[in-house]
Amino acid sequence: MIIAIDGPAASGKGTIARRLAAHYGLPHLDTGLIYRATAAAVIAAGKLPSDVEAATDAARHLDLARFDEGLLRSAAMGEAASVVAAIPEVRAALVEFQRKFATQAGGAVLDGRDIGTAICPDADVKLFITAQTETRADRRARELQSRGENGDHEVVLADIRKRDERDSARSSAPLKKADDAATLDTTQLGIEAAIAAAIQIVEEKLQGG
Ligand code: C5P
Repeated sequence: MIIAIDGPAASGKGTIARRLAAHYGLPHLDTGLIYRATAAAVIAAGKLPSDVEAATDAARHLDLARFDEGLLRSAAMGEAASVVAAIPEVRAALVEFQRKFATQAGGAVLDGRDIGTAICPDADVKLFITAQTETRADRRARELQSRGENGDHEVVLADIRKRDERDSARSSAPLKKADDAATLDTTQLGIEAAIAAAIQIVEEKLQGG
């Protein structure tokens, strides 16, 4: 079974993807990390994330183990990732890796921005996780604070708005709900309630709903 999960930053999709993977005993790929690792490699090479040649080269030689996850998950790397992710050549270089992961025996859970629309258009279950922007900014600010980063609400809110806009407006595989995805709005839901709702959607789908 392939479960495709998409949604904007801090919508809860990462947590839901991890927990669904554990629940169904499936491997999980956080595809945001591969764009973050690509951006980190470009920056480590002394280039700008907008440098098409450097970013494409980094994507073609992707090494997920090269960088510390703490660095990859920083706010700065999220911003740089969304710049490299808008480059069509970068996206093209990363497609095969993601599809291979998705089509391994037994299936997988993948989360990102274009899993249901571009990477796994035939996924068995597609979820689009969303939440109000203010709520997402609150969550991300708390997450950054817990890691000792600057989690100022207004700064985080502005960053999230900018990233949503860039991810949704790009021409290559923009952030978009697949027509056949179920939407789960987590604005009013705690983690456990959101996970229970996601499991229910998967179960309904498995039973032919
Ligand atoms: O999900 P996360 O915040 O880690 O993603 C970082 C950035 O990587 C996103 O803002 C987006 O630009 C890009 N991304 C993407 N497609 C994916 C996953 C992430 O474009 N499937």
